[in-house]
Amino acid sequence: MSDIERVRVVKCPSCAGDSIYASTNPYRPFCCARCKNHDLGAWANEEHRLPEPSPPDDMDLPPVH
Ligand SMILES: [Zn+2]
Repeated sequence: MSDIERVRVVKCPSCAGDSIYASTNPYRPFCCARCKNHDLGAWANEEHRLPEPSPPDDMDLPPVH
């Protein structure tokens, strides 16, 4: 009998490396704290990266010579 078969190894969403999907890995499905933090950071960046509001009036203005 081997305990290894009870451990699931999944692909880390951050680094695509092996990640142990078990209670021993608190960062699952990530492989480590760095990968988890990196992913959360990416999410935060997306949240803060709002598109700059461009004035719609510029679109309707005729070309000025
Ligand atoms: Zn990773």
